[in-house]
Amino acid sequence: MSEKKNVTEILHHLGEDNFPFGAVSPPIFQTSIFSFPTFEDFQEAMGDEAHHYLYTRGNNPTVNLFETKIAALEHGEQAKLVSSGVAAISASVLAFLKAGDHVVAVKDAYSWAKTLLEKYLTRFGVEYTYVSGTDLAEFAAAIRPNTKIIYLESPTTFRFELQDLKAVAALAKERGIKTIIDNTWATPIFQNPLDYGIDIVVHSATKYFGGHSDLVAGVIAGKADDINHIFRTEFQNIGTVPDPFMAWLLLRGIRTLQIRMKAHYENTQQIVNYLSGHPKIEEILYPFYVKNPQYELAKAQMRGGAGLFSFKIRTRDASKIAEFTNKLQFFRKAVSWGGYESLVFPYAASHPDASEELVSLVRVHIGLEEPQLLIESLENALKCV
Ligand SMILES: *Cc1c(COP(=O)(O)O)cnc(C)c1O
Repeated sequence: MSEKKNVTEILHHLGEDNFPFGAVSPPIFQTSIFSFPTFEDFQEAMGDEAHHYLYTRGNNPTVNLFETKIAALEHGEQAKLVSSGVAAISASVLAFLKAGDHVVAVKDAYSWAKTLLEKYLTRFGVEYTYVSGTDLAEFAAAIRPNTKIIYLESPTTFRFELQDLKAVAALAKERGIKTIIDNTWATPIFQNPLDYGIDIVVHSATKYFGGHSDLVAGVIAGKADDINHIFRTEFQNIGTVPDPFMAWLLLRGIRTLQIRMKAHYENTQQIVNYLSGHPKIEEILYPFYVKNPQYELAKAQMRGGAGLFSFKIRTRDASKIAEFTNKLQFFRKAVSWGGYESLVFPYAASHPDASEELVSLVRVHIGLEEPQLLIESLENALKCV
């Protein structure tokens, strides 16, 4: 692994020594092609596109600057920016599979990761087994001789359950299985899965890297061999290209990543604290809630928590959840998360047929507002239950 750098050094300085005219903000190389002074230079670039500027579907300097920073933040050797989080998942999973292979995956993983396994890969003769992820023995039991990938997401993003990353990585390494983790929730500010022996990290950069709900992007980080393999196979072929302006917006977004994550964590702790004492709250699903059954594991493998969590309201009446949602001021009703703003997503909004137990589940994203404003809003909305 590359030498570990200080986070501020990465976010504010790494790769920025030679901007033209002493510019502080990086240039946007808005170009599709790069030209060569000689036949020989042209030939060399054609022979190794992964390491040359030839065509922006492959590499682009603005895109590469963001990748350099994410690779360093994740304690990896290399990273690749792609057009969405789903593209990051698909490209890294597909790159290591062929017909007849098998994947072990966490059952509460991001919905489109599950669609990839259930609807897409089954067409090409790839099988999968789901595990809850909370029990190491379940992973061991699910592994077959043809298992090529263990797919993780820790924590998951509706129930917020963790996997023991060090233990799963060790289990996989013994058997030559690649481990891929979705690290979108914790971000490298709070969790570095590669340090625990996980092979590949994927992110929806749409969330905290962008940080302002104004772009869609994804990124993959890991060892140079793995990233180059993904580049040569799925990335180049499927053409999931990031554009230079999106990369520039991401570079602007991550300038404040460290300070935003700290604020999301502090604000969320205040909200969790408030809700934990509320008589109408039945359960809180947040890894850094002291009563969470995986609290010790959370502290062992993460340095802090993000702003996204769920709670259950003491009701089984979907109309009460609708009323609560409509009364809740300052929380926008929307999918996604990771921006500056607070959001609410009742499970029943996407599952009209939700079971009684799940009707009461509400996911919120705590943004960068003053927590007191959000607490007053929650207090007011919970009165209707
Ligand atoms: C949003 C999200 C994704 C998908 O990312 P897109 O950028 O929307 O394609 C993947 N994983 C998690 C945990 C997410 O929240």
